[in-house]
Amino acid sequence: MELYYKQTSYIRGLTVMRTKLRQRSSVAALRRRRRQLLRQVPPLDRLLRGSLIERYKPCGKPGCKCARGPGHGPKYYLSVSHYGQRPQMDYIPQDYQSQASECLANYHRLRQILDEVCAINHELLCRREVL
Ligand SMILES: [Zn+2]
Repeated sequence: MELYYKQTSYIRGLTVMRTKLRQRSSVAALRRRRRQLLRQVPPLDRLLRGSLIERYKPCGKPGCKCARGPGHGPKYYLSVSHYGQRPQMDYIPQDYQSQASECLANYHRLRQILDEVCAINHELLCRREVL
C-alpha cells in the first residue's frame, strides 16, 4: 500500500524569519520593535504544537479513479513529536482542519515572537541597558 504524505500549507511562507539585529539599531528602535512584537502575540488559548499531515490513500478497488491519482483524500492527521518518542498521530476530521491550521500557525508565530523578543533583550543586556 502506498501512502502519500504532504505537509500542509501553514508552514509555507513562514520559513523561520531570522531577525538580524543590526548593530546600529538604536536602543529606542529595539524597544519599539519589541512593543510591536508584543502586539502581535496570538491568543494564548488558540495554540497547537505539531504539524498537520495530509494523507492520500488508494483504496485498491480495480478500476477506481483513485488509482490514477495519489488516492482518496486528503485526510488530516495532527503529528506531535515528543522527545525520544515516535510522533503521536491523531486523525483530524475535515471540519476541524481549519481550526487546527490556525492554532498551529499561531504557535509558530508565537515561537518567532519569543525568539525575537529574547534576541532584543539579549542585545539590550549586552549594551548594559535596562530591559
Ligand atoms: Zn479508490
